[in-house]
Amino acid sequence: RKSVIKITTGSQALDDLLGGGVETLSITEAFGEFRSGKTQLAHTLCVSTQLPLSMRGGNGKVAYIDTEGTFRPDRIVPIAERFGMDAGAVLDNIIYARAYTYEHQYNLLLGLAAKMSEEPFRLLILDSVIALFRVDFSGRGELAERQQKLAQMLSRLIKIAEEFNVAVYMTNQVIADPGGGMFISDPKKPAGGHVLAHASTIRLMLRKGKGEQRVCKMFDAPNLPEVIHVFQITPGGIAD
Ligand code: ATP
Ligand code: MG
Repeated sequence: RKSVIKITTGSQALDDLLGGGVETLSITEAFGEFRSGKTQLAHTLCVSTQLPLSMRGGNGKVAYIDTEGTFRPDRIVPIAERFGMDAGAVLDNIIYARAYTYEHQYNLLLGLAAKMSEEPFRLLILDSVIALFRVDFSGRGELAERQQKLAQMLSRLIKIAEEFNVAVYMTNQVIADPGGGMFISDPKKPAGGHVLAHASTIRLMLRKGKGEQRVCKMFDAPNLPEVIHVFQITPGGIAD
């Protein structure tokens, strides 16, 4: 039986919200408006996952599937330095792939599973999980097929998380919600419908605060108090 490993986000406030950090054996979703910090959190986790367990890391490698072309190796350097790690070594332990279609994204996951059976990975990033599905199934009447393919991909993600004791961190987009949504003034909800909602173990909702401040809370967690956690995006990555 595998035991859960909790990987620090770099922010104590965010770790507290997550109950210690991003967990292996489960799927953590972050959604929110543009520049809310979803990709910056991905970059920070690329580094913190490689920290030893004693430093609240995962002592493992990282796989990064990028659908938007927003991964920046240069960004890893100051984050590695902040955690006292060698940037070159950290970059060597990030397996990066750019996906161009939803099928390509799915096939990359199949290939990664083979790699993960050979080397110790602790984190799989999908930034974003849904963008290609929204492009590839944008036509009228294609929603049912999109949701079916999305479900197939998500079940593959869950298998990877459980088979290799990996944390899955995936970002999601927000869409208009005429029904009210997250904020009365600007009603939005996460994309992906109930298929995505069902697959995510934890759903983090991010938004911009003042300056480099960002605000985060748990979405759809009726058993938790409505607590807002504040973190910052700094040159060294996500921090308090
Ligand atoms: P999108 O929906 O467009 O993908 P996102 O939620 O992924 O948005 P990020 O790219 O994570 O957004 O956040 C971008 C923000 O991160 C920038 O607007 C800036 O405020 C902050 N940021 C990026 N790099 C740095 C840095 N080196 N130092 C401090 N803050 C930075
Ligand atoms: Mg982004």
